[in-house]
Amino acid sequence: MKKLFFLFLIIPFLGFSQQEAISSNLFTNYESYKESILTNRRFKHSDIQPLIDNLKSDKYFRVKVLGQSIEGRDISMISIGEGKTSILLWSQMHGNESTATMALFDIFNYLKTNKEILNNITLHFIPMLNPDGAEKFTRRNAIGIDINRDAVRLQSPESKILKAARDSLQADFGFNLHDQSKYYNAERTSKPATISYLAPAYNYEKDINTTRANAMKIIVVMNNIIQQYAKGQVGRYSDDFEPRAFGDNIQKWGTSTILIESGGYKNDPEKQFIRKLNYVSILAAIHTISTGSYKKTSIDEYEKVPKNDRKLFDLKITNLTFPYLGKNYTVDIGIQNHERENKKHTEFYNIGRITDLGDLSTYYGYETLDAKNLKFKVGETYPKIISNFEDFEKLDIKKLLEQGYTSVSIDSLPSEIKFVNYPINIIDVRKIKILRNNTIPKTPIYLGKNPTFLLTQNNKVAYAIINGFVYNLVENNNRVKNGVVK
Ligand SMILES: [Zn+2]
Repeated sequence: MKKLFFLFLIIPFLGFSQQEAISSNLFTNYESYKESILTNRRFKHSDIQPLIDNLKSDKYFRVKVLGQSIEGRDISMISIGEGKTSILLWSQMHGNESTATMALFDIFNYLKTNKEILNNITLHFIPMLNPDGAEKFTRRNAIGIDINRDAVRLQSPESKILKAARDSLQADFGFNLHDQSKYYNAERTSKPATISYLAPAYNYEKDINTTRANAMKIIVVMNNIIQQYAKGQVGRYSDDFEPRAFGDNIQKWGTSTILIESGGYKNDPEKQFIRKLNYVSILAAIHTISTGSYKKTSIDEYEKVPKNDRKLFDLKITNLTFPYLGKNYTVDIGIQNHERENKKHTEFYNIGRITDLGDLSTYYGYETLDAKNLKFKVGETYPKIISNFEDFEKLDIKKLLEQGYTSVSIDSLPSEIKFVNYPINIIDVRKIKILRNNTIPKTPIYLGKNPTFLLTQNNKVAYAIINGFVYNLVENNNRVKNGVVK
């Protein structure tokens, strides 16, 4: 009797512990499956096409060209498996949301040698649904349509391709793979929403039918797993019904649809750890669908996943006191680093901006700095004009910062240079504007300003804030990714 009771206790957990073991394996052995050709977010259609072509040599993969983008790039579907339950996964409907595409190529490598996961299921992948957007690393397609608002009107070929694939397969499950802003956090915590999930609503009432409930259950399984590798860093995306969006409509058309959004993770600008979380999350979901173990989970658990909020900055500086017109003001400031790209959309640099100031006690930072016991100091421009970049590179930048200089003027700077990999800003002397002196001087800190200033302690420069990044001069810890040319 005792033994029987014990069995009753453990049977419901068998599914999950087996799931845990599998995902732990996926996490640990990830490097052996990671697709090494893809190393950063700004890859193009021409980078993935050879990888797709290579899959044709594996007899288990079936590759089909579904059609072409507006600019004529092939959009392919890769299928594998013979099982009854069909799963359709599509990524990069938004051209600059590439994290999951990288993970899909890792998953192809996994599937080459791990066929047992395919029991009962057939997988269909459409990686990079919006190759024209990916080319310019922009959200929208070549004519400026947001494909995720074109699910009903179907004006873009990319939208038609996705709709036709869904309809012809009548997929049981759909995975809608996106990236979200790195400034999303798990509600009322400082933790970024590194992964957010959603079982989209199919009507304004946000009703839950079996189709949507199954999506919620899969999310519960994925959340339990990802919490182990990024604790507290999972959010639940808003389920407001959007009648034009694909996720909402595909749910309505009867495919249990799961949205996965890749957000931010500290010190992971190219989202390679987040890519790994996608890999684990998606394969764990595929596994639970293949075994049916997700059916045992409760949709109540879905509601317990914290909601997404948008309360993060790259850097939050608290208790900063600065003088203006003879008085002192104490504020918190929130700084965000925006990406600017080169012409080929292959590389980027950062421009820092003050995006909020005042009482920011309800906000958080990937990095925070308390300026309470520090004194604000305006950074000066080094008085000597440097005649060329070679001479600039000979300067002792740390010494200049300690002397109170946060920018250097250079005389003949090539106009294509927009940033420098040094912790100081550059003034292009040809661009210096004559200041009008009949206006009230601007405050040293204001919304939209590039955050560049100094913080002193005992009359010595302790921190240089350059282009929104921190250089701790006391500890000689330079975290400035780049200075900008002004
Ligand atoms: Zn998106």
